[in-house]
This record gives sequence, C-alpha cells and structure tokens, in this order.
Amino acid sequence: MSTLRIEKIDVFQVNLPYSGGVYLLSGGREYRGFDATIVRMTTQNGIEGWGESTPWGSTYIAAHARGVRSGLAEIAPSLIGLDPRRVDRINEAMDFALVGHEHAKTALDVACWDIFGKSVGMPVCELLGGRTNVRMPIISSIYVGDPDEMRDRVAEHRAMGYIGHSVKIGDDPMIDAERIAASMADKRPGEFFLVDANGGMTVESALRMLRLLPDGLDFVLEAPCATWRECVSLRRRTNVPIIFDELATNDASIVQMIADDAGDGIGLKISKNGGLTKGRRHRDFCLAAGYTVSVQDTVGSDIAFAGIVHLGQTVPERNLRCILECRDMVTVRTADGDFEVSGGRVTAPDAPGLGIAPRLDVLGEPVASYS
Ligand SMILES: [Mg+2]
Repeated sequence: MSTLRIEKIDVFQVNLPYSGGVYLLSGGREYRGFDATIVRMTTQNGIEGWGESTPWGSTYIAAHARGVRSGLAEIAPSLIGLDPRRVDRINEAMDFALVGHEHAKTALDVACWDIFGKSVGMPVCELLGGRTNVRMPIISSIYVGDPDEMRDRVAEHRAMGYIGHSVKIGDDPMIDAERIAASMADKRPGEFFLVDANGGMTVESALRMLRLLPDGLDFVLEAPCATWRECVSLRRRTNVPIIFDELATNDASIVQMIADDAGDGIGLKISKNGGLTKGRRHRDFCLAAGYTVSVQDTVGSDIAFAGIVHLGQTVPERNLRCILECRDMVTVRTADGDFEVSGGRVTAPDAPGLGIAPRLDVLGEPVASYS
C-alpha cells in the first residue's frame, strides 16, 4: 500500500439562502438561510478531497455553523500526517481530539472518502459496500403553513417529479390534522408521506391529533416528540409507524432504539450522524434491525448532496425510504457533477470519489487552513 498522508486542510464558508423564502418549523423556529462549511483536504501527492457540513440553523439539533468551524480548529491539526483511507482510524483520531460535535467531524470524514475514491479510481458508493441498481426517490421538505397552502406546495413538488414528501407539523392537534389531510388529499399511487413534527408535540397532542385524522391515511410519523420517553410512550399507544430523526444521532442512540423497539426507521443525516464512516455503521444497524432509512442531511449544497447520494446508493430498495434533494432548498451551487434527477429519481455517478468539481469562485478564499 503506497503512502498517502493528509498534508493540508482548508476551510471555506458559504452562505446558502433558503430557496423558499422563510422555512417554518414546529416551536416557532424559522430559517431564511444556512451557513455552510466546506473542507478541502489535500494529500502529500496532491489528491484533493471535499466535504461539507451545513447545520439546520442552531435550533434543530446540538449543532451550529460556527461550532463546525471551531470544531475543525480542534480536530484538523491532529489529522495532519494520517492516511485518509483508514477512515475508521481517522474517526478514532477525531473522537480522541474532540468528544461529540459530529457535525464538525463530518466534513473531514467525507473529504477522506473522496480522497479514498480518487486514489483507487472508484466512486465512494462502491467503497461503502457497492452500488445497488436502485434509482433513488427524492423527497421534498414542506414547511409548516396553512393546510391549503401546504397542499399547493406538495402539488408544486409533485409537478417537479418528487415522489416522497416530508410534511412538517407540530403546533396544534386540530390544525396539524388538517395539514396532514390537506397535504395528502391528492396523493398518487407510489407516493409516500413522512409527517415530521421535529419533536414539537407532547404525547397528549400527538394522540389527540391522530384521533382527528380521517381513517386510512398512509403515512409514517417522524420525530413526534422531543424526548426519548415521550416517543416511546407514544409508540406504545399508537399503530402509526414511528421514525426517529433528531433522537437517532449516534451508535448508542440507534442501538438503544432497536433495544427498546422504539421505532421503525430513522432519518440518517450525514452531518447529524457524523459522516459517511459512522453513517455506514448506522446504515448497517438499521439493515440488521429491518428498519427503513431515509438518507438525508440536515441541509446543504451540492457537496452534501453527493455524500447523501453515495450512501443512499448502498441501501437495498426495500429499506431505502428516500433521499433528500437538499440542493433544491438553497439558491447557491457549490459544485458540479453528474447528479441529474430524472422522474424524481437519481443514481450515483461513476466518477472516482464523490464525483464533484467544486466551484472555487463560489467558495472564495479559505477562512482557515491547517497544515
Ligand atoms: Mg426529520
């Protein structure tokens, strides 16, 4: 095995305006744009790897954009000189340098996989276990609003080819029931719906809302409540499939979820779950448990989307719920690549590594460098 060493790590910052204006989430949270951190990792022989970490504001999970860059300052120096292809060893070094802060580790981990792929001439999905032949369905993200207006936005995304819809709720049982019914009113065969409360409901409000719904609606309920206890309590008292997202962030929580029979699947978000190395492990936990997996990220641009596509491309069809088309949610393009969506579906490119070419003019000058 020829030598490969990380020689330099550059950090870039890009603002990503939200394409839909103002994104409203349960609990009065709102987002108008996102602060992206992009990493370029360079080896001693000039191979460049790229990674992105873009938190969903600072009120979604315990992650925020300035924390990504502060975390990189803690971690990056300890990776200089290491072989980026030894991804588990890289993650041990990152965990030794900084406890937690998975969102900061993600950009570095993804950059290592990009280098790994380029160094052997293979796409990342092949290194993560090998590509399936699944044309992966993309899912929309429908923010909280008036029921009729949410129905219109689902229709707009349907017209753009979207097969899945993540409908956000979480304010009031009666209005939420109306939001769900309206969003699903025009449901077509083959479409699927995730109803996502982002932890905004109490057990009481969730149970009341479920009783207000028309019979026979086909959806799964994602992240109904903020705490583990509440979610498990609700789980015991409803027959609606429950998906974990904000509470399924690491090895321990996903193993506990399986042990508690707390749900039926997870939203596996690359930066929330710590990158592709840890994401690969979480994928495998879920497959072993028979869960469905939505491969997503908290948000992000083209580089984050490449990571989603490569990991998603390794999940068997019966377990893959969808992938998030995060690029549609922002107005800035940070990279180019062969990631064309057609008929609401996408497959990973054959180019080595992530298969992206960053737009250096968009990235500008590094805000920090480590060597
Ligand atoms: Mg979610």
